[in-house]
Amino acid sequence: YEGPLEKIDDFRWKIPRDYKSGMNTDAVIYSGGEMLQALREDDAPEQAANVSCLPGIVGNSLAMPDIHWGYGFPIGGVAAMDADEGVISPGGIGFDINCGVRLVRTDLEIADVQPHIKELISTLFKNVPSGVGSEGLINLTKSQIDEVLLEGGEWAVRNGYGWDEDLLVTEEEGRMKNADPSKVSDKSRKRGIPQLGSLGSGNHFLEVDYVEDIFDEDAAKAFGLRKGQITVTVHCGSRGCGHQIATDYLQVMERNVKQVGLQLPDRQLACAPVNSKDGENYFKAMACGANYAWANRQMILHWIRESFEECFKRDAENMGMHQVYDVAHNIAKLEEHNVDGQRRKVYVHRKGATRAFPKEHPEIPSCYSSVGQPVLIPGDMGHGSYVLVGTECGMAETFGSTCHGAGRIMSRSEAIRKFTVQGIKTNMEGRGIFLKSATKDGILEEAPDAYKSIENVIDVVAGAGLSKKVAKLVPLGVMKG
Ligand code: 5GP
Ligand code: MN
Ligand code: MN
Repeated sequence: YEGPLEKIDDFRWKIPRDYKSGMNTDAVIYSGGEMLQALREDDAPEQAANVSCLPGIVGNSLAMPDIHWGYGFPIGGVAAMDADEGVISPGGIGFDINCGVRLVRTDLEIADVQPHIKELISTLFKNVPSGVGSEGLINLTKSQIDEVLLEGGEWAVRNGYGWDEDLLVTEEEGRMKNADPSKVSDKSRKRGIPQLGSLGSGNHFLEVDYVEDIFDEDAAKAFGLRKGQITVTVHCGSRGCGHQIATDYLQVMERNVKQVGLQLPDRQLACAPVNSKDGENYFKAMACGANYAWANRQMILHWIRESFEECFKRDAENMGMHQVYDVAHNIAKLEEHNVDGQRRKVYVHRKGATRAFPKEHPEIPSCYSSVGQPVLIPGDMGHGSYVLVGTECGMAETFGSTCHGAGRIMSRSEAIRKFTVQGIKTNMEGRGIFLKSATKDGILEEAPDAYKSIENVIDVVAGAGLSKKVAKLVPLGVMKG
């Protein structure tokens, strides 16, 4: 990217709307320090500028410090579209609809788990299907898959996967209410049926961590987190089901763009007015994909609890294995926000960005109302992850959104060329981290150094005030898809 990047302050960089014709608003990128060079070396800032050309965009086109190139929209991108005059764009959500993160806490300490970490990761490996094209352990009928698409996490809990309380601490309580399975193709169903209850590959993972540090005692207390405690994180999404939904509707929207003669700087920004049939159908289908992902993570949580029970010969309840939260980081939501002193309804696209609502927001669980929504940010398998909490500043500036990870700094193919499995394993073992992966490439593509420094990313979102640091998690064992 060689265009303008005007410094607003240490954390905010602006691409002014006069940079190129068609831009409706400025693009603002949250970044800083050594990440600025990587930003220049990537075309993602151009994509953030392109997003501002979409009809009906409200406020700025935004990008988080974990920004990198994605299909149409940058990963790390946030854009709000007017609920009457705006558009919805599958590229602003991503192919892995409702890819997201779930965090479970335990009452176990490092000393309880570290000596058994290999056995624990192997047990998780046995109980949670993973790998490219991995298939779940259940066989759904066509009417059952429609129940999953309609009910999401509720379906999973109703069928014995997990506890009722899990839903209360899941974004949307695990179910988008506007889901309509009749808007989902048979091809998506066909891909979704065998894969329900599986982790997938590569960037998707299951990790056993310990709480290394606490930064906000009040929020940590509300989230049930304390220093030295063992936690489990799972990162995965809607598998082939969501991917097919995105693929199907991109075709529909490309046709729409041609028909109405909409001028876009990039074909990958294909979109449809939110109030058109195409736009409405996609939003209903996207909700089905999101529900699939919540059912998926709910089932995996159930197998995580079973794996701990198998390993430690204690009940999950007895080990205090409560879910802290589950967040989506690839999704569009119809929300109300204050924009220039006015209450407005907008479709917030978060693509590789996480909702981060502040305290007392009506849409967060009542148990967190006094502190704010937990925000779960994975870093990389060598350095760990962060738990943040939403703020008023994020609500005012970024439609209640923050980053979603460290973000890639190296392409998958480059990482495969550059690293060796042995090198990565030895390095991680040196830090006391046990790693097991379904595939060799899964390890190489996910090398810790293929990602930006999570510390740098968090410094920017915390420094800008978009969210606040609560806890740092460091891995003991990682299961890679
Ligand atoms: P994405 O959804 O973009 O594929 O991944 C989200 C984020 O997860 C990435 O930006 C990266 O920072 C982080 N990540 C990927 N693999 C791992 C892992 O094995 N462990 C942890 N803690 N984070 C990871
Ligand atoms: Mn994903
Ligand atoms: Mn993801």
